[in-house]
Amino acid sequence: MPPLLETLRAVASSLRSGNIDDSWKEGEEMILHLLNADRTTLYRDNPDLDDPTINRLYGMVKRRLKREPLQYIFGETDFYGMKIEIGPGVLIPRPETEIVVEKAIEEARGLKKDEPMMILDLCCGSGCIALSLAGRFPDASIYGVDLSAATLKYAARNAIINGMKNVSFVQGDLFEPVRDRKFHLIISNPPYIRSRDIESLQPEIALYEPPEALDGGEDGVKYYKIILSQAKDYLYKKGILVLETGDGQSTLIESMAKASGFSDMEFIKDYSGIYRVAIIRNR
Ligand code: GLN
Repeated sequence: MPPLLETLRAVASSLRSGNIDDSWKEGEEMILHLLNADRTTLYRDNPDLDDPTINRLYGMVKRRLKREPLQYIFGETDFYGMKIEIGPGVLIPRPETEIVVEKAIEEARGLKKDEPMMILDLCCGSGCIALSLAGRFPDASIYGVDLSAATLKYAARNAIINGMKNVSFVQGDLFEPVRDRKFHLIISNPPYIRSRDIESLQPEIALYEPPEALDGGEDGVKYYKIILSQAKDYLYKKGILVLETGDGQSTLIESMAKASGFSDMEFIKDYSGIYRVAIIRNR
């Protein structure tokens, strides 16, 4: 067997012995990442791996065997066609969140407005949502707010590497940094896991992802409650609030939205049949 495939086989078997599912695919991804190559090149050319590359590869395997997510090992992930850099303290963008972005874009396209669109992303993390919207609405003014300074450094860097100039990332607690502004679209993927459920999540999440980006308080809905109770002050009439939601939270969010004076809302399922998006329209 040629050298690269031999190495890949050894890597896959090592990952498999550490109970990593998809061990071959993950080994493949590590090699592709290190060589900056695509799969076809890898299998067609079967390039030789030099010693420094092999060492780096085994460094990755060692980290992965401790259950560190591949995205942190690579320092980046793909989201909505963009490269998003991430690291310790920053939530890894999830594929489900692309559905939230997709729905927000559909809603925002339907808005009639005379002035340039104002968009707010609360708990913006890596900036993945704000930047996806920035790419789709280049004339909009977009604000991304997060409590974590560490996270905002990544968000600012992600704006630069993706060439987005219409997003400002600001530090603060929810609406606090944008007190004097109004928005056509407010979007948020806030922490929404119940505090007591965090330690039983898969080790990749429980051991490595920032708890403050996951922990939605005792009932998981702490942030929705605050956002919903204040959103009307920051939304233009006919403005839209789009929330990513967790498993089994839609009923509770519906009643909280009603209690905050909203009446027009819709809940949308993700690919696994979980209500993942709440669209709340300010009529
Ligand atoms: N979707 C993430 C998870 O299931 C949670 C993200 C969040 O709390 N906003 O782990």
